[in-house]
Amino acid sequence: MEASSTGGVIDCVVVGGGPAGMVAGLLLARQGVRVTVLEKHADFLRDFRGDTIHPSTMKIMDELGIIDRFLKIPHRRMSTVSVAAPDGETVFADFSQLPEPYNYVAFMPQWDFLDFLAQESEAYPTFELIREAEVTDLVSDGNRAYGVLYRTPDGEQSLAARLVLGADGRSSTVRARAWLAPAVSEAPMDVLWFRISRNSGDEAPFVSTGSGFSVVAVDRGDYWQVAYCIPKGEYGALQSRGLDTMADRMQSAVPVIAERFRQEITTWGDINLLSVSVDHLGRWYRPGLLCIGDAAHAMSPSGGVGINLAVQDAVAAARILAPCLRRRQSPPVSLLAKVQRRRELPARIIQAGQVKILADLYPKRIDEPYKTPKSAQLMGRSRLLQKTAARVIGLGLRPEHIK
Ligand SMILES: Cc1cc2nc3c(=O)[nH]c(=O)nc-3n(C[C@H](O)[C@H](O)[C@H](O)COP(=O)(O)OP(=O)(O)OC[C@H]3O[C@@H](n4cnc5c(N)ncnc54)[C@H](O)[C@@H]3O)c2cc1C
Repeated sequence: MEASSTGGVIDCVVVGGGPAGMVAGLLLARQGVRVTVLEKHADFLRDFRGDTIHPSTMKIMDELGIIDRFLKIPHRRMSTVSVAAPDGETVFADFSQLPEPYNYVAFMPQWDFLDFLAQESEAYPTFELIREAEVTDLVSDGNRAYGVLYRTPDGEQSLAARLVLGADGRSSTVRARAWLAPAVSEAPMDVLWFRISRNSGDEAPFVSTGSGFSVVAVDRGDYWQVAYCIPKGEYGALQSRGLDTMADRMQSAVPVIAERFRQEITTWGDINLLSVSVDHLGRWYRPGLLCIGDAAHAMSPSGGVGINLAVQDAVAAARILAPCLRRRQSPPVSLLAKVQRRRELPARIIQAGQVKILADLYPKRIDEPYKTPKSAQLMGRSRLLQKTAARVIGLGLRPEHIK
């Protein structure tokens, strides 16, 4: 194995400081594994993320003994998720029916959560986070990975490691460089992402829907982060209708946002188009390398489940791989396959739910008149379904534990 530019071979290099990478870094470091997380950005202050911290993630923090510190960070608690529509409001998930004390979803800007994980991790001497470190390639013999090459403001560097953990999200460089090709599912939507100012006391439904769109409004104190979901590939059609049409359509569903939208969003340049992808790798690993989180299975924002899955992957990977890494050995392929076997089914079932069941919530055409989705009719009537949805979103299909 080659020596790294920082001297010696570390146990694990984690590529990407998102939810999967930061949780994996923390859990490996606390078990004495020498781990370095490489994050391409200088900070965690990025918008293109969800703000949800799920009950299962809080349970993990409880198991780690860090939940009290986490709960001191300002957050809001949501006990039910309902969707406001022209024909009324439907409760979709009722977290209050989950076991206490984590029977709610905590809303916290994701940069606060990731900063918190970084602080907790830095308490361990075997942990290192390098920011502004963009992984550009693998160090490999064409089959086995031995480390990574990465770019920093000071130039190109290399880092040799017994394991490369690819947690670099939906456009993963690691999986591309490892020739791990994803199978792509049809995502039902694209997302238009923009901010609208919010005054204290302003209220808007968290999710609302209407003709040709649905809107998720995340309250971030003095502004809403708005996700305006449209049918996949219909952005051009919407642009030709004009910004006023967007505001008119939102007017009855979310009037306060519609009115500010007219004042604050004056050009299409004020809006970011996020193309949503849903895909999964057939094989998550090669010798010396494993992908987890969105790098292994890119999730749509629908249902707000991607962060939970990413965290759960990290917990399983750390639990299964740490003993071997702590002995300063590269995990054999059989152990990497064990992580995939443990986590693949939950990810695939949830993706199928996003693509097949939740697709019913999203309009298929930009000018489609609103009609009540069948799933909304069913969910609105059944407390059992609302509890089931809360379990799937809040806990996942196979909750993981640190031991
Ligand atoms: C608009 C939108 C809203 C969403 N809302 C929610 C929600 O409310 N709740 C929810 O549960 N899920 C939501 N999701 C899905 C969720 O964001 C993902 O499933 C989740 O973030 C996956 O976590 P991850 O750690 O695997 O990857 P990511 O969160 O994508 O993190 C990857 C990290 O790797 C870094 N990186 C990338 N390439 C490199 C490189 N070459 N070198 C070094 N670092 C690199 C990135 O900067 C990033 O920090 C949403 C998705 C979208 C698109």
